[in-house]
Amino acid sequence: MENKKKIHKIYVDRKACIGVATCVVIAPDAFDLDDEGIAIVKEGAEKLDDNKLLMAAQSCPVLAIHLFDEEGNRIFPAKL
Ligand code: SF4
Repeated sequence: MENKKKIHKIYVDRKACIGVATCVVIAPDAFDLDDEGIAIVKEGAEKLDDNKLLMAAQSCPVLAIHLFDEEGNRIFPAKL
């Protein structure tokens, strides 16, 4: 139950992203930088390990990576 897959949607706020690429370093199968040096979500990324995705999102200095559950509720970053 603890290990149940929670993350079902990943969104990168491209206006917020500053291209530091820590997300790419942590989860290269989930994120990449495009020609503009801004992060994109790779196909199938939401199927990867939740912990890795969460770590990548937490590593983003501007919190540009948003994670959602099956019902579309935001998991990260938490609402203030
Ligand atoms: S860590 Fe954040 S700012 Fe850096 S490339 Fe990824 S989404 Fe963009």
